[in-house]
This record gives sequence, C-alpha cells and structure tokens, in this order.
Amino acid sequence: MTDTLDIKITKTSKSRLAETDFSNLVFGRTFSDHMLVADYSDGEWKNFEIVPYGEITVSPGISALHYGQSFFEGIKAYKHADGKVSIFRPDKNAQRFNKSAERLCMPTIPEDVFLQSLAAIVDVDRDWIPGAPGHSLYIRPFMFATDQYLGVAPSKTYKYIVLLCPVGPYFTKPLRVKIETHYTRSAEGGMGFAKSSGNYGGSMFPAKKATEEGFDQLIWTDAKEHKYIEEMGAANAMFVIDGTVVTPPALDTILDGVTRDTVIQLAHDFGVPVEERKVSVDELIETARNGKLNDAFGAGTAATIAPVGSIFANGEEYFLTAPENREFSQKVLKTLDAIRYGNAPDTHGWNYLV
Ligand code: PMP
Repeated sequence: MTDTLDIKITKTSKSRLAETDFSNLVFGRTFSDHMLVADYSDGEWKNFEIVPYGEITVSPGISALHYGQSFFEGIKAYKHADGKVSIFRPDKNAQRFNKSAERLCMPTIPEDVFLQSLAAIVDVDRDWIPGAPGHSLYIRPFMFATDQYLGVAPSKTYKYIVLLCPVGPYFTKPLRVKIETHYTRSAEGGMGFAKSSGNYGGSMFPAKKATEEGFDQLIWTDAKEHKYIEEMGAANAMFVIDGTVVTPPALDTILDGVTRDTVIQLAHDFGVPVEERKVSVDELIETARNGKLNDAFGAGTAATIAPVGSIFANGEEYFLTAPENREFSQKVLKTLDAIRYGNAPDTHGWNYLV
C-alpha cells in the first residue's frame, strides 16, 4: 500500500450537470464535468490531477497514434438507495490493466494508486451517477504512449487518463448473433487477453459486415480452425447447456472478463455446475437443435448480461427461448443488481465504497 495519492484538484466553474438529460443517455456520449490525468516519465508516475473535462493537446508524432501503444479499461460505479457510491470490483480491472500494460511494453500502475485514482475522480463527480434502475457511471481509465518518435519502439513517456460517462441500459432486446468463421479477433500468442485499442479497431470491419447482414453481434471463433467459440463481440460468451454453465477458458485469446468471473462465482453460490472448457460451434448447434441450450448470453461491464435471441451458423438460424423464461441469467441479473445497488449483502466484498 502506498501513501495517500497526492492529487491536485481544479474544479470547473461551469458544470454541465443541470443541462444533461439523464433519461436519454447514449452509451459513451455524455461525459462528466471532470477527468483525472497523470504523466509517466523518468520511470515514474507523476502529476496526478483532476481537471475540467476537455480537450488535450498532443503532438501528431506520438507513438500511440502510429503504433498503437494504447489500451483501456471499463468499470462501473453505482449509486445505492441510501446515497452510498460503490465501484464494482475495480481491483480486478487494476490487475487486468497491468496485464495489458505488460503485453504492450507500457508501465504498470500500482493497484492501490489505480484504485485511489478511480475513487478520487468518482468522488468529485459523484452527482453524475444516475440513480435510475439499470443506470450507472461508466469509468474509462486508459493509457497511451506520448513520445514524439516514429521509430517502432516502446515509448518512454505515457499519459494515464480516467473519464466518466453516465450510462443507461446498453442493449434493449435479445441479440441476433452470427458465428464468424472468416475474420478473427485474436490468435494464440497475440493480444486477445489484453484490452489493447488495436483489438477493437480490428474488430470493427467484421462487426460492420455483420450489421449490414442484419445481425446485432458476432460470435468470434478460434483463429486456427474457426471450430471453437471464443467471445461475443466485446463480451464473454456464456451458455447454459443442459443445466451446466459453460464458457470458454479465458486464456491467451480471450479477455478475462470481470463479469464472466462474477457470473461463475454466482453460479457456484447458486449450486449450478460450471465448466470452463472449449465449446465447439457444432456442440452449440446440436444443443440449440435438441433443446439443451437453455441459455446464451454475452457477459460484460457495459451490457452486464446481453441475452442472445438467435444464433446464425452454417446458413441456418437457431432461436432460443425468450430471455424472461431463462432461469439462470434472470437470477444472475437480479442478484447482481441487488449487490451492485446495495440492496443485498455484499458477501464477496465486490463493492469498493467511495
Ligand atoms: N471481452 C471483450 C473483448 C471485451 O471488450 C469485454 C469488455 N471489457 C469483455 C469481454 C467483458 O469484460 P468485463 O466483464 O471485464 O467488462
């Protein structure tokens, strides 16, 4: 544990809070009044500051823009009925933040510095946390390389910034998903487990094609054979097959999702068996056909639980039961919401109070 982080705070003289329509929030479009910024140089993190949200000046030569030394995290803060504010499992994001940093030859941030930085900015903008059901404050920490240098080499200087966005529900209907059997998100030895910006840039073209074909999301398959399920868009793919929760193991190619881990823990709490194992496209189709695919959803911070309505594979579309009839994901969502909004005991210690 390091000492209390020294953060200089400069508040805005003109809050945008009163003019913000909290009933029509589009994910990621509305930013709070402030942001946290810090610099890395000479081998250390420095200049932690909270300043009014706004533009920053960078050189066009910074290596983040040219070679993608850039990554991010996504976390949510919730307002409880009694006015308390908590961030959900940010220690997990701190660990993943540092895994991404290491993979990209970027500096890590000590876990408690990361946690203190989140708590500080959320505290300053706590009035920006919407209280309505399904609403929260999305926290976006990110880091990028700032050396002005066109050589392909790790930068020596970096910026760390934390932005906040009040958000509402992400998906409002069950998703029509397509199994992607040509494009890949990641490969063994690649960066799938890291939240590197490039992973998302590369996913846009296949996602756009799928949207043009009328689908809401892709299910990524393995790069080698396109035989095994990897992830669902920017969420982990989770299934309930014949009463067992099944999800691919979060190894090299898959982002180790905090929501995925949370769902697995809740399944254990409920006494529902869990298998972290490869799931083949063939198995998914077979179980969808014979009625053993009880549930399918994407698990992620933004969407929480995004129910799959239908799966398109090998030229056929397989329909699942309506989300309201799916016992497992309904129970997970209810339990999770109760914990995150402070309406149930936080037995796992998931809520980090601000
Ligand atoms: N996979 C990918 C590729 C993602 O971008 C995300 C969202 N962060 C997830 C899975 C889910 O991770 P988490 O539950 O930690 O948000």
